[in-house]
Amino acid sequence: MYNRKAEPYKIKMVEPIKLISREERERKIAEVGYNQFALRSEDVFIDLLTDSGTGAMSDWQWAGIMQGDEAYAGSRSFYNLEKSVQDIIGYTYFVPTHQGRGAENVLFPLLIKQKGHYVLGNMHFDTTKAHIELKGGRAINLVIEEAYETEKEHPFKGNFDLEKLEAFIKEKGVENCSFVLITVTCNSAGGQPVSMENIKGVKKIADQYGLRVFFDAARFAENAYFIKQREAGYENKTIPEIILEMFSYGEGLTMSAKKDGIVNMGGMIAIKEDEELYTQVRSMVVPIEGFPTYGGLAGRDMEALARGLREVVEEDYLESRIGQIEYLGQRLTDAGIPIQRPVGGHAVFVDCKKFCPHIPYHQFPAQAVCVELYKEAGVRGVEIGSFLLGRDPETGEHLESPMEFLRLTIPRRVYTDRHMDVVADALIEIWKRRETLKGFDFTYEPEVLRHFTAKLKPVE
Ligand SMILES: *Cc1c(COP(=O)(O)O)cnc(C)c1O
Repeated sequence: MYNRKAEPYKIKMVEPIKLISREERERKIAEVGYNQFALRSEDVFIDLLTDSGTGAMSDWQWAGIMQGDEAYAGSRSFYNLEKSVQDIIGYTYFVPTHQGRGAENVLFPLLIKQKGHYVLGNMHFDTTKAHIELKGGRAINLVIEEAYETEKEHPFKGNFDLEKLEAFIKEKGVENCSFVLITVTCNSAGGQPVSMENIKGVKKIADQYGLRVFFDAARFAENAYFIKQREAGYENKTIPEIILEMFSYGEGLTMSAKKDGIVNMGGMIAIKEDEELYTQVRSMVVPIEGFPTYGGLAGRDMEALARGLREVVEEDYLESRIGQIEYLGQRLTDAGIPIQRPVGGHAVFVDCKKFCPHIPYHQFPAQAVCVELYKEAGVRGVEIGSFLLGRDPETGEHLESPMEFLRLTIPRRVYTDRHMDVVADALIEIWKRRETLKGFDFTYEPEVLRHFTAKLKPVE
């Protein structure tokens, strides 16, 4: 793991980053109420807030930016992207959208036919859940229990619990279910993959009950790489073969291209063969996103995405990408720092319930580690725990999250292993003095989505 192959690319253009002094970091984070979302990126040295839209494009993609066709209708770049989608995903129809949530906004009302209908997922991403609920549906998570046990090794923690899935359909009645949505990799469970066997199992149950299967495909290539690495029978298949097989079990997908599309903005809906559904999507996309041959994207964006989709399925790229996350995870594990094992495809999740057992959930242990990491090394991570979760709408009490995570999300092709060392070294320093960390209290708490804009102060 420490001795892995070098990155299969070299650096042609650089963007300077600057580490401001410790005194400045302490002042900046205090000024923004100890909320890393309010920091200016200029004051961040290594930014691990998200892997969404933060990847580095290749010279081939940048060349595509110059060659984008900005025609309102029938753009050449649209057709190039359509060809990439057909070749790589294997679906016939596609419309671009400005990002993943744009795709959800267009497709879901067409699938959720009645208020209160269930959408069955392994674990829905938060905007996905929001769009299901905005359309009157109910988002149900049916991921296996192992997903919640951070230290238990399991190769496919994003899998559906197939028994739970079938039991749910039987209990609620198939007439009350809308569709099944498989999220690959499962972002909210820590970028954990779903096995081919499990995807097939979901498809079999769905067929039995006449339910349709769709994918939330933001990290489809990373999922395929894990299948190749971990699932018997796939070790000799190519990544493109695995991807085609995976998607063959679905009828369509929504995708945020900001992840495995390796572009800074973009998304899509793709449909395997249902022409009627495609016709509906095409007419709905016009008022919401834009004319169907641009759907919220500039021609240049479509051109970059057409190329990014071809690059992301290259195995040496995926080996380097996933290998970097494993490298960071292994350095932390070797130092005794508790993290979610095995690491997922796009982030390392530090288990801060175990890191700071002396800080109660309502004083946000993962936020405490997050703030300390910024002070220590100018590294910006993000809290995924009780601070994010919010309050019970009925009682007004802080809800207790089952996990208190600091998420270190790694952008694609952006940082080197030396940057990962800086992150690991800093966390190891903090680990040594972990008893001295203090929790946080609100000085300002907004009513909704509080973690984006709240202000905090250390508890004395
Ligand atoms: C990012 C993401 C989305 C939403 O996509 P945006 O491009 O951010 O709108 C949906 N589902 C999953 C699994 C994601 O990771």
